[in-house]
Amino acid sequence: MSILVFGHKNPDTDSVCAAISLADLKSKLGNDASPAMQGDLSPESKFVLEKFNVQAPHIITSYAGKDVYLVDHSDLAQSPDDLDKANILGIVDHHKLGDVTTNQPVECWIWPVGCTCTVIKSMYDFYNIEIPRNIAGIMLCAILSDTVIFKSATCTEQDKQACEALAKLVDISDLQALGMEMFKVKSAVDGTPARELVLRDYKDFDMNGNKVGIGQLEVVDLSILDKVKSDLEKDIAALKSEGGHHSIFLLLTDIIKEGSEMLIVSDDESVVEKAFGVAPSNGKAWLDGVMSRKKQVVPNLEKAFA
Ligand code: MG
Ligand code: MG
Ligand code: MG
Repeated sequence: MSILVFGHKNPDTDSVCAAISLADLKSKLGNDASPAMQGDLSPESKFVLEKFNVQAPHIITSYAGKDVYLVDHSDLAQSPDDLDKANILGIVDHHKLGDVTTNQPVECWIWPVGCTCTVIKSMYDFYNIEIPRNIAGIMLCAILSDTVIFKSATCTEQDKQACEALAKLVDISDLQALGMEMFKVKSAVDGTPARELVLRDYKDFDMNGNKVGIGQLEVVDLSILDKVKSDLEKDIAALKSEGGHHSIFLLLTDIIKEGSEMLIVSDDESVVEKAFGVAPSNGKAWLDGVMSRKKQVVPNLEKAFA
């Protein structure tokens, strides 16, 4: 039976590229492994796969009875709904340890680095397996994406070293240019429905019994979002009432200015001031220097909700 490797819901470039590369590594180690994803490719991921001529994984949402590896998450909220009926063989991730459990020993590679593909680069090295050129290319892009071209607070020396080694394999010297090429694709919002933008990089969290949704749009210049901002505000308000959330936060991250404007709909806006020391006005707050949901937004909100 084939092993399926997949990342989180609303797959981002790391979730897709980590699934492809881990499936490649597992295949070379003698397993029958295939990548999968829980939803459609983002424009950025599509660009990355096309650039390096890599086929998109199949979309699979049900994993009952399957042998699986999880990449880029270990939270049930990010996993398929029937994960409890799957046989989890391993987890490769770079997030805080989530609430996924297993009833058998499990292979775990969970490192505090900026990207799952950085961990997988080390796994290839560990097993002394050569990384194919096209897979090195998409892994490189995933690291540049997750670390916001090394600017994110989550970026580590290991991420930079992995990129250097991968860049040699694909013969790319200007990582800044490659990163900006990707973020320009990611920044394009024209003609995209507000709900699609809100959900493009969106995660639900349980914070002290409160359902909290946090989305993020990373752009090269916040003014790109001026035209759609009021639609985004309306949409997160609608999403909040549909989903019964305590709060929904949408981070509009300017990767050049290195900060985020947070759009807020909440039963209690004071959590924002508690978390970030900034009082929201008109449902918005500018969070200077905040670019990472994982390292700067989630931990501070969790404390504020505690
Ligand atoms: Mg991810
Ligand atoms: Mg990631
Ligand atoms: Mg991200």
